[in-house]
Amino acid sequence: MSHEERGAAIVTGAVRGIGRATALRLARDGYPVVVNYRSDPALADEVVREIEAHGGKAIAYQADVTNAEQVGQMILDVVNRFGRLDVLVNNAGITRDMLIMRMREEDWDAVITTNLKGTFLCSRAAVRPMMRQRYGRIINLSSVIGLVGNAGQTNYAAAKAGIIGFTKALAREVGSRGITVNAVVPGFIETRLTEAIPAELQEQLLKQIPLGYYGTPEDVAEAIAFLASPGARYITGAVLCVDGGLFMAA
Ligand code: NAP
Repeated sequence: MSHEERGAAIVTGAVRGIGRATALRLARDGYPVVVNYRSDPALADEVVREIEAHGGKAIAYQADVTNAEQVGQMILDVVNRFGRLDVLVNNAGITRDMLIMRMREEDWDAVITTNLKGTFLCSRAAVRPMMRQRYGRIINLSSVIGLVGNAGQTNYAAAKAGIIGFTKALAREVGSRGITVNAVVPGFIETRLTEAIPAELQEQLLKQIPLGYYGTPEDVAEAIAFLASPGARYITGAVLCVDGGLFMAA
């Protein structure tokens, strides 16, 4: 597929961190990028301007991934504007860490709703045009925490493990329509999420990473760009760790 023929790529929560790096990376591959954001139009415009400054195409689009109506409208508008929707990156995510005895029901609900239900709502809406096109790439952001767990993150671990099950089930459901669905599993990546970890714990964590350093948002964006590319056509239902070797599966 030539660059001219590429349909849009939506990246949810794309104003900073991994989402921002992914938006910039996919734009470099020639996708018109939809920089989805929830709360900060100025930051979203900055990402759009940066993409345009490098010769890419992008628009900012406000939609809360937990709101089915807003998500449905976003997908409709994107397809109307760009003709095709080739890539959906379900990146939007939050944490609300707390030991279980003190975890409020709203902290549980907020994390499950944003990370897991948001992924469901965006994927459900995106699958319709992708089925019509008989082509699509859905990439979901999980986390090593979803694989190994972490004290104080029962809500986040449950949501991120749920995303892996969701990815595999959807991959089976839509594979015959030319749509691949994969999960990317970042380890510890330098973003606002990891900045909050206390210095002592940071040192312990680094010792557990075979490569000995935190990843960058760009490291994760590279893996997402690969899974989004036509060259990854025979990969679906996969769980790709980008974690410096922190978690090694069988
Ligand atoms: P981040 O810097 O905190 O950015 C998260 C983005 O999601 C923000 O732009 C935020 O926008 C957006 N968002 C939150 N709720 C939303 C909603 N309801 N609708 C639309 N957008 C929403 O996060 P990050 O570190 O780049 O992480 C990105 C993804 O990778 C997340 O799914 C995270 O769980 C996963 N991950 C990260 C790490 C890591 O080490 N950083 C490790 C493993 C997995 P607002 O500012 O408007 O809230």
